[in-house]
Amino acid sequence: APVIGVLALQGGVAEHARLLESLGAEARLVRRPGDLTGLDGLVLPGGESSTIDRLTRLFGLREPLIEAVAGGLPVLGTCAGLILLAAEIDDPAPGQQSLGLLDVAVSRNAFGSQAASAEVTLPWDGVGGESVRAAFIRAPIVTRTGPGVEVLARHEGRVVAVRSGTVLGISFHPELTGDATVHGELLGMVR
Ligand code: GLN
Repeated sequence: APVIGVLALQGGVAEHARLLESLGAEARLVRRPGDLTGLDGLVLPGGESSTIDRLTRLFGLREPLIEAVAGGLPVLGTCAGLILLAAEIDDPAPGQQSLGLLDVAVSRNAFGSQAASAEVTLPWDGVGGESVRAAFIRAPIVTRTGPGVEVLARHEGRVVAVRSGTVLGISFHPELTGDATVHGELLGMVR
């Protein structure tokens, strides 16, 4: 079975691990650099991106994460995980950094409080399925996509799922609706 890491510093870790195991993968919680050794894929979960950013630096994980993903480890970032992957954050918290692994800009609060939390079915333009049941919780949006970045889903006309090579970033939480489309997409990128 492919071994998929779930960054387990803060946020929605258990739901991702459960969904990955339901698809036949082995989920491994990642808390220190050594946990990245031997992974076939990685999930950066939702939570609070500025907190996760701070903890990656505190736990010495920032550089190892960048090296692993830049070296070709397939990764799925959801919500705060998408913000972490982004090259630019339009509205960062004070001192907040991102990993710069996906050539997009994101806005952390662009939906506004009304539309920021909702459960909807979105058309999905990937290989994992044709639609995805998505929960949005204080969701970011993608405000710029660089060359080579493919849009996989939109919500209310705004970009909420992208892929560039083996880096997949989505604004929403499929692990909360139990929809396996996006995790299937990650497993499809694992050799
Ligand atoms: N808006 C949050 C942030 O900036 C992300 C919310 C989430 O992951 N559900 O990290």
